[in-house]
Amino acid sequence: MLAAALVLTSCGSREQEGAPAKPAPRPKPRVAVATTTMLADLVRQVGGVHFEVVGLMGPGVDPHLYAYTTGDLQSMQRSRVIFYNGLHLEGRMGEIFETMRGRGKVTLAVAEQLPKETLLLSEGQTDPHVWGDVRHWIQVLDVVAKALGEADPENASAFQANADRVKAEWTALHEWARKRCAEIPAERRVLLTSHDAFAYFGKAYGLEVVGVQGLSTSAEAGLADITRAVDFIRERKLPAVFVESSVPHAVIERIARDAGVKLGGELFSDACGIPGKTATVNGETYDLGTYAGMIRHNVNTIVEALK
Ligand SMILES: [Zn+2]
Repeated sequence: MLAAALVLTSCGSREQEGAPAKPAPRPKPRVAVATTTMLADLVRQVGGVHFEVVGLMGPGVDPHLYAYTTGDLQSMQRSRVIFYNGLHLEGRMGEIFETMRGRGKVTLAVAEQLPKETLLLSEGQTDPHVWGDVRHWIQVLDVVAKALGEADPENASAFQANADRVKAEWTALHEWARKRCAEIPAERRVLLTSHDAFAYFGKAYGLEVVGVQGLSTSAEAGLADITRAVDFIRERKLPAVFVESSVPHAVIERIARDAGVKLGGELFSDACGIPGKTATVNGETYDLGTYAGMIRHNVNTIVEALK
């Protein structure tokens, strides 16, 4: 008792003398896990200073084929919430999410929270690439704000405020993308890429989309797929085709060569670019490692190659 009183007294007197007060120890931020780079960017923006967000997949990583590591397991173990895209995007992680739920962890498949009528079907499967339409990713902001608020009720209003701020930014981003894609002459609004990652993007921004490999990258393109793509390019007189950062380039390079068209550039389909690496187009600079930068890069690359 006496010792405690003495300590208190000495602290008080030091402050009175104007010595800098020791800052109160900051509560350790809670941990949230997110699988893909675009989801990790979203959760980071909503979580702000209150959550440490661990992104499992890096730039250029293909989520369809990603196998989790021991480090990922440890991150999931110490997390409050595990966010993943769902709709089978993370094709090899279904079991581990199940295991984590069994251990009482909160897991949330964000794309599966979207209204059913917004989801697109392809060959009987639900298309998981919802982030291609910025309006869908805006809806995910609310999903994440609510989940973080339940994990950390004290800061729930901060998460919603963060989500609302990003919503305003991304609403402007959506409008920009729509206007920019309208610069492409109508007959050339065709996007041919490695796999069917751009159906939501194409629907939102007025492009017809052709993927050589289908919804997942787990099945490789065969000779028949290549021949069909070459015929399509010639028939529609497409000026360019596009490779993806998370899929090997060989098939699209061969198609471009056989069809005699140029490569329009590399698109970020299932992963953002390298964080901190910026690009400047038409006087606008953006970070390729962010979701907004991913959309800006894709739109600018597509418009410049096709218009
Ligand atoms: Zn994909």
